Amino acid sequence: MESKANTNSEVAVILSASRRAALVLRATGAQSSAHLSSHALDVAVGDKVEVSEEGGKLIVARRCESKNILMRSYFGQTRRIAANVDHLFIGAAVAPLFNTAFVDRIAAAAILEEIPFTLIVNKVDLGVDSTRELVQMYGRIGFDILHVSATRGDGIEVLRERLNDINLEVAVIAGVSGVGKSTIVNSLIPAAAARVNTVSRKTGQGRQTTSQPFGHLFLRNNNIPLILADLPGIQRFGTAHLDLPQIVYGFAEILAVARSCQFGDCSHLEEEECAVKRAVEAGEISFSRYQSYIEMCAESAEARNYD
Ligand code: GDP
Ligand code: ZN
Repeated sequence: MESKANTNSEVAVILSASRRAALVLRATGAQSSAHLSSHALDVAVGDKVEVSEEGGKLIVARRCESKNILMRSYFGQTRRIAANVDHLFIGAAVAPLFNTAFVDRIAAAAILEEIPFTLIVNKVDLGVDSTRELVQMYGRIGFDILHVSATRGDGIEVLRERLNDINLEVAVIAGVSGVGKSTIVNSLIPAAAARVNTVSRKTGQGRQTTSQPFGHLFLRNNNIPLILADLPGIQRFGTAHLDLPQIVYGFAEILAVARSCQFGDCSHLEEEECAVKRAVEAGEISFSRYQSYIEMCAESAEARNYD
C-alpha cells in the first residue's frame, strides 16, 4: 500500500548537501536548512526533493526524478554531484593551467547526459598564444568556447547574458582548482563568497566552503533566480562508472571515425588495424583527446576487474 502523502509536503531544490543536512531553495524563494530523512538519500545541488515540516524541523523526505545527472567516481564510489543541469560551464585556463584530462572527462559526461556545455578559457589576460592551437582543436570538434579574464572582466558580460536566459534553471561551473571559478562566480554574484560562509554556519559545517558543490543564486533581469552551482575542489573527474561504448560516445570525433574500424567492436586501444589510431597518427584526432580516451578506458576496465 502506498504511504499517505504528507499534506505539508512541498517540492524544493537542493542548493547544497552533506550526508545529513541540506540547504534547499523553496518555492517561495526562501532558503532553508533541512535534515535528510536517511543517509541513503543521495542528493546533489539541482535535485528536486520533497520536503515537509516535522516537529518544527524541515525534513527532506524524497528525491524526485531528475532529467539528468552529473556523476563522478571517486575511490570506488560513484556520487551525484549535480542534477537537472541546464548548462555546464567547463572552467579551464590558458596554458600551462589548461587541464585537458579534466575538460575531456566532464565534457564526455555532459554529452552522455545531453547537457549543453561551454568551455571557458579563463585568464586570457596572461596571453592566449600557448593555448591557441588547443582551443582551435576544441572548436573544430564542436565545443562552444568562451574566452574570459575574470580579473580584467573580459567575457563576464557575455556570461551574464548567457545566465539571463530564462530557459535555464540550473547552471554548473566546474574546473580544477586554480582556474578561477571562484573569481568568475564572485564577479557574477558579488554576494557569493559571503553567502557560502553564512550557510556553512547554518548547516554546522565549518569547512564546507571549498569542498562541497554549492548553488549560488544569480538574480536575473526578470527576478527569477538561476542556480549557479560551483563544483569546487575536483582535481580529477573520475569516470570509472562509464563503460567503453559510453566513453566512445563522449568523444564525438572518435565516434565519427570509429565507423571505419575493421571490427565493429574495436576498442581503439590494442587493435592493430584501427581507423581511430590511424586518425591520431595522421593528426586528425588530437593526441591529448586520444590520451584522455585511453585513460578513461583503463580506469573503467580496472573498476570492472575489481568488482
Ligand atoms: P578556483 O580555485 O578555480 O576557484 O580559482 P580562484 O578563483 O580561487 O583563482 C585562482 C587564482 O587565479 C587566484 O589567485 C585568482 O586571483 C587568479 N585568477 C582568477 N581569474 C584570473 C584571470 O582572469 N586572470 C589572472 N591573471 N588571474 C586570475
Ligand atoms: Zn578502432
